[in-house]
Amino acid sequence: MVSSSDYRLAREKMVRDQLIPRGIRDPRVLEAMGKVPRDRFVEEALVGEAYNDHPLPIGHHQTISQPYIVALMTEALELKGDEKVLEIGTGSGYQTAILAELAYRVYTVERIRALMVEARKTLGQLNYHNVLFKAFDGTLGWEEYAPYEAIIVTAGAPGLPQPLLDQLAEGGRLVIPTGNRSSQELIKVTRKRGRYMEKNLGGCRFVNLIGIHGWKE
Ligand code: SAH
Repeated sequence: MVSSSDYRLAREKMVRDQLIPRGIRDPRVLEAMGKVPRDRFVEEALVGEAYNDHPLPIGHHQTISQPYIVALMTEALELKGDEKVLEIGTGSGYQTAILAELAYRVYTVERIRALMVEARKTLGQLNYHNVLFKAFDGTLGWEEYAPYEAIIVTAGAPGLPQPLLDQLAEGGRLVIPTGNRSSQELIKVTRKRGRYMEKNLGGCRFVNLIGIHGWKE
């Protein structure tokens, strides 16, 4: 049996070869990426590929994002450590763990209950205690704990879901892939004095965001 610590070198190599050369700079993001055991978030048969430069299947036709995309989206959230973060699309819980390292509290929403249950178990085993889980349509956000200083959506949307814009704090950042069902642009939205400023961070490919303010099933 190989323990997670044996993947430390694979993680360091991932940071060195995949993240730094592509421009990820925030030292806290690089540190978190070098710390969270991605191998614990993939199924047994794929553990050997956990630190490779591509997404991997996690069941239910969903995927764990490529490490670079996780780092890029996380960096864009500009987390300092005292934020409440809303994440839509828990999936494996890998991105959730990265956020839990960097923010005060993470509220994560996943529409497929089985994935939520599995992610909750993994994060519990890894001793993350600042994460709240909910199985629900995340295009509606999570009203109860709003507003959030940062919101991240890890599935591709047809547009910006209004509830997420409403639940963004003044000065807050929303990072979300929008486009058509097969390819998207990564958009960063910043809320400033009631206005929403958009910045395009480049092309990407995500599974579909399905829900009232997303795609139909
Ligand atoms: N960040 C995840 C990526 C998961 S893929 C990881 O690192 O593993 C995207 C996830 O979004 C899938 O699990 C999918 O079920 C979920 N999803 C799609 N539409 C959703 C919605 N409306 N609300 C919540 N989750 C949704």
